[in-house]
Amino acid sequence: MLYSQTQIAETCQQLGAQLSKDYHGKKPLVICVLKGAILFMSDLVRQMDTDMEMDFMDVSSYGNATESSGAVKILKDLDISATDRDVLIVEDIIDTGRTLACLVDLLNHRHAKTVKICTLLDKPERREKKISPDYVGFKVPNEFVVGYGLDYQGLYRNLPYVGILKPEIYMQNQ
Ligand code: 5GP
Ligand code: MG
Ligand code: MG
Repeated sequence: MLYSQTQIAETCQQLGAQLSKDYHGKKPLVICVLKGAILFMSDLVRQMDTDMEMDFMDVSSYGNATESSGAVKILKDLDISATDRDVLIVEDIIDTGRTLACLVDLLNHRHAKTVKICTLLDKPERREKKISPDYVGFKVPNEFVVGYGLDYQGLYRNLPYVGILKPEIYMQNQ
């Protein structure tokens, strides 16, 4: 286990308090990047004391493996227009940064007023794209982590904590 349920709850509270200040008097469009960010998003917004709208996007980057495929494809787009909105992207983890680089470009292209990133986990060692999140829960080492929304082959998203996946689990599938 890397981060317990209690540690995650504290972090959501701190991030929520900061976001409430930073978005005071605004009405951000809070975007959950499916599926990994759903648990974080739902805990985070409950700590944000501001008007907001929520929307969801699904983009593919990892498929079923532990390594990125490189390509980023939109599987589900926003329902609400991002034009002129203060957009807050909520992510589970930033690894190479490819997914977010692509999303930020897209939102700027659609003329969002501001685009900020809040990620539960940041794995800066593997960064390929210049992406620096505005809000970070925890910096994680270069390990494959699961739980609290993060999966391995669709499993473990429901764990209430974040843990490092035992290498023997993915080794046996390679
Ligand atoms: P990036 O495009 O930054 O390389 O990867 C972003 C996406 O890859 C994340 O949103 C997440 O879905 C997946 N990912 C990256 N690192 C991990 C990890 O350690 N564990 C899990 N479960 N997914 C990861
Ligand atoms: Mg994600
Ligand atoms: Mg995944």
